[in-house]
Amino acid sequence: MNRLIFLILGFAACACPAANTPDAPMLLVRAQWLIDGIADKPRHNMEIVIRGNRVVEVRARDSQALPASAQVIDLGPATLLPGLIDTHTHIFLQGEDPAAGGYDVQLLKYPASYRVVRAVASARRALEQGFTSIRDMETEGAGYGDVGVKQAIDEGIIPGPRMWVSTVSISSTGGYPLEGYAPELTLPKGSQLIDGPVEARKAAREQLDKGADWIKVYMTHRSWVDAQGALISQPTLTVEELKAIVDETHGWGRKVACHAYNGLGLQRALDGGCDSIEHGLEITDAQIAQMLKQGTWYVPTLQVYYTDWDPPDTDSGKRDRKRVAVHGVSFSKALHAGVKMAFGTDVGGFKWSEPIAEEFAREVEFGMTPMQAIQSATSRAAELLGKRGELGVLAPGAYADLIAVASDPLADISVLKSVQFVMKDGVMVKSSLGAAVP
Ligand SMILES: [Zn+2]
Repeated sequence: MNRLIFLILGFAACACPAANTPDAPMLLVRAQWLIDGIADKPRHNMEIVIRGNRVVEVRARDSQALPASAQVIDLGPATLLPGLIDTHTHIFLQGEDPAAGGYDVQLLKYPASYRVVRAVASARRALEQGFTSIRDMETEGAGYGDVGVKQAIDEGIIPGPRMWVSTVSISSTGGYPLEGYAPELTLPKGSQLIDGPVEARKAAREQLDKGADWIKVYMTHRSWVDAQGALISQPTLTVEELKAIVDETHGWGRKVACHAYNGLGLQRALDGGCDSIEHGLEITDAQIAQMLKQGTWYVPTLQVYYTDWDPPDTDSGKRDRKRVAVHGVSFSKALHAGVKMAFGTDVGGFKWSEPIAEEFAREVEFGMTPMQAIQSATSRAAELLGKRGELGVLAPGAYADLIAVASDPLADISVLKSVQFVMKDGVMVKSSLGAAVP
């Protein structure tokens, strides 16, 4: 039913934002509770005044007489929040089942058009679940497909979140699948493989030129548990290679996200000047201090590592269990040290049919308050995207991206898995709270 409502609203009403002009019709969204994305406490009986695609005022309910032309959406006892932001997604991955060909079949057998169609469905799923913005962390062999999906969303052709795309990603020779085939074969890779600072800089230039908002770099690849029981990760790029990418990307006014599990590869990611560490399974105290000094973001993606463990007596099964054992510790240490942390899930690494918001419970499990967890996916994530004050907050000047849930997420964070109302850019795209379509 939700999907039906979504489709009707998403297409019939068009996802096109209204112009934000002074004479644009006034729209009010009311609910009993409001969490604005920044304040530590929810507020009671507020209303959000929207003109076009922007919030113009957040005020006490019924505090002013309404113009006759104003439209009102009253969500009753619900809780309003800013549209959520997932800063680590993969719309071009679908949580592939190994028995159905896993990762490799996508690059070897699927038409590019099929992968794009599935990515379009994934983008819609993000929006349906209340994620009105995503930073998509590479296309896994689907080239620049994310650039076109983003364009189609921005033009209102298909429903989906605001997107920051990273196109192809960069790793080194031996640093990304496809792997394990006859050495005589030349196979497609899920990443652009470079060797040396010149190739590194050239790859960044190509990707930035073709539409990458962020550059995604793999600083570690394979991981395993050694004889002493430690998690070991194979490093990929050198510091010199990464520095060339970071220098080039910063020159374009854009940023670099680094997949880095632990050890030497994570150290190189920090020494090379990465803007965000993705996953960061095992971060030492010295590395936490370096992140604080450099202002590095941490996007932990906890939940994905709890899915699809191999049997415990296998090498990969031991690795799967070791990863989560060290990850929660790193998360807690970074949180208490004050490292900048943003919500990210790696969805696509698990199926888009599963709730993206499962990650909130893991954040709370490892030490965030429910409000901190919400802020990690609202104001903090917006800061990572360079959109402080415009996204991830319900305040004057922000984009009119908002969601509502039926009960209090501070009492039970899991209600964020059941987002009932979604508005993006001032246009309602989903509601199962009985609100009238304006
Ligand atoms: Zn990822």
